[in-house]
Amino acid sequence: MPVPYLLTPGPLTIARQTKEAMLRDWGSWDADFNVITARIRERLVAIVHGQGSHECVPMQGSGTFSVEAAIGTLVPRQGGHVLVPQNGAYCQRIARISRLLGLHVTTIDYAEDAPVVAADIDTALAADASITHVALVHCETSAGILNPLVAAAAVVERHGRGLIIDAMSSFGALEIDARQIRFDAVIAASGKCLEGPPGMGFVIVRRAALEAAKDNSRSLALDLHDQWVYMQKTTQWRYTPPTHVVAAFDCAIEQFLAEGGQSARGARYAENCRLLIEGMGRLGMRSFLAPAVQAPIIVTFHAPAIPNYAFKRFYDAVKARGYILYPGKLTTLETFRVGCMGQLGERGMAGAVAAVESVLLEL
Ligand SMILES: *Cc1c(COP(=O)(O)O)cnc(C)c1O
Repeated sequence: MPVPYLLTPGPLTIARQTKEAMLRDWGSWDADFNVITARIRERLVAIVHGQGSHECVPMQGSGTFSVEAAIGTLVPRQGGHVLVPQNGAYCQRIARISRLLGLHVTTIDYAEDAPVVAADIDTALAADASITHVALVHCETSAGILNPLVAAAAVVERHGRGLIIDAMSSFGALEIDARQIRFDAVIAASGKCLEGPPGMGFVIVRRAALEAAKDNSRSLALDLHDQWVYMQKTTQWRYTPPTHVVAAFDCAIEQFLAEGGQSARGARYAENCRLLIEGMGRLGMRSFLAPAVQAPIIVTFHAPAIPNYAFKRFYDAVKARGYILYPGKLTTLETFRVGCMGQLGERGMAGAVAAVESVLLEL
């Protein structure tokens, strides 16, 4: 059986060329490898137009490691207070990380189909001067909802607090512009919209915020300031880098730029999303979110109305036709998710919809 396409929000199906970039071994001390690291860092900063003002600090591990590194490095260990507007599991994860780090945490809770409202952040910051940082998830991958980054950033800036953005599932596909919005950190990873393999994250940090974070981290391995200083001094990663992942990520970024960068990547995903919702709609499948708040990254669908529906059975049948679905992450409703990212092959999203159609006919 051919390897199925991944309709998931990472890991996702990556280009053959990207996979082939992993066939070579690299020494972590080798100058040729460190040129790759430097190129990646520079290009990632440029994607958010942070040249001159921001630094890219890569971090080993999945995206969550970089989220934990950003919060633990940038939020003061004494008096740090994080406001988390939350409408899904990734927001909850940030709150949990912050609590485990011993920080004071306040949440604003929304339903899973409701976007964060910038005015609510305004109210919360006005009411509590002790809040030092706001942690916002740009695209909440749980339901696929888009949160209002520009409006939220303006509010946080007006109050003079720090903004930490979890842009894991939006970086490279949706616009984030450091010239237009002020943030302390934008966090993302290799294996999402930039279509690299999973295995490294990175944080784009405002240089002044990074410089101010010396000796703040309680973690050795997740100290972004230390990683940055060491990298500036030696051009190397502090501890063993995921060399094959780094090389493949570099190759993926090269392809991203050749495709036309963020606007082209975003347009491809938006078209995938449109074809998906339209095609599934023809099959009688309803998406969960209102179109106005649907990010073009991942779509949550209500389970199909077939007798004795079980996700596992549906999943297996679609997999047998060449596509891997993603389970739902909503607490109350039976749903499943379909990602709009990655290399979906010649038939693209139409192939995925056809696979679902054939399963629905069979079941
Ligand atoms: C994928 C993702 C993460 C990180 O998850 P990992 O499994 O650690 O890579 C964090 N936040 C969001 C919004 C994500 O989509």
